Amino acid sequence: MTLKKTCLFLCFFISIFSLPPTPEAAARPGFVVTVLGARGGMLDGNLSAYMIRPAGDDRAVLCDAGTAMGGLVAAGRTGALDDIAVPRGSGLTRPGYVLTHTIRAYLISHAHLDHVAGLVVASPDDSAKPIYALPATLDDLSAHLFNWRIWPNFGDRGPPPALGKYHYRALTPGRAEPVPDTAMTVTAWPLDHGGVESTAFLIAANGISVLYMGDTGPDAVEGGHRLDDLWRAIAPEVAAHRLKAIVIEASYDDTRPDRMLFGHMTPTWVAATLRDLARQAGGLESLRGLTVLIGHVKYSLAAGPAPQEAIRRDLVRDAARSGLGGVRFLIAEQGLRLTVD
Ligand SMILES: [Zn+2]
Ligand SMILES: [Zn+2]
Repeated sequence: MTLKKTCLFLCFFISIFSLPPTPEAAARPGFVVTVLGARGGMLDGNLSAYMIRPAGDDRAVLCDAGTAMGGLVAAGRTGALDDIAVPRGSGLTRPGYVLTHTIRAYLISHAHLDHVAGLVVASPDDSAKPIYALPATLDDLSAHLFNWRIWPNFGDRGPPPALGKYHYRALTPGRAEPVPDTAMTVTAWPLDHGGVESTAFLIAANGISVLYMGDTGPDAVEGGHRLDDLWRAIAPEVAAHRLKAIVIEASYDDTRPDRMLFGHMTPTWVAATLRDLARQAGGLESLRGLTVLIGHVKYSLAAGPAPQEAIRRDLVRDAARSGLGGVRFLIAEQGLRLTVD
């Protein structure tokens, strides 16, 4: 590793691990984002899954579940679950307790396997909970996964008998819904993802919020305006500095041509769309202090540096060019626990 790379590496980790809340920060409302799965495609055991909960509150939602139990075991090893109290006598491992008690609901952006495989394989031992999604995603889950052919029907509709462990809860775009047994509300907006409808979820509690975005392509490449619509809807949240973090994908680095994006983003497109958000929210200053967590980096079979190295380098350059110096970019890694407030 060269000195420059070592510095980048250290800076990255310092930026993550120098975040323990100060006593004053702990008193402010915040969110805890725990990465259970970080990659997009191919690396089974580390696929999109982000556990989100208000700071100091053990009642969470899991945004996408490409990896579930494997991600909880990995997060248990890094200590990322240590602040969750497992009651004496529960008879459960810490990851087992978190799956069945801490995670109160799933928010599923779309039914591609790298976003639902962990949910499906965990289902026999999971606890009953709602699955929140837009109607098209719920239709895909009930018709093509929980249908007694690919997997037993743990849903509450679809091919009989419907076992009813998971309660499908259809969200209406732009309308906030309380998530039962949590302090959070969730609001969904559709995203364009190469011909498939994906979803962005705004998760709010205690007057602040976090935006989790499933797979998405840029409006200019997708030929739509759903990112533009999303930014317009959440601009007041951003202008008031209530939005604390965005989880967004950058599947490929900037060498990827637009015609090969297949419904995904690059760092250049992430920077461009954040500028669009800033424009709607009153200027670049509105994004100061915002954390942007980059997920869904595609795993690569190629020898040499990991793809996230190129993405990190591109992000630094694109952010500087775009005037996004006030944004804190981080690349998601499995087992990372991040507190934003
Ligand atoms: Zn994906
Ligand atoms: Zn996808």
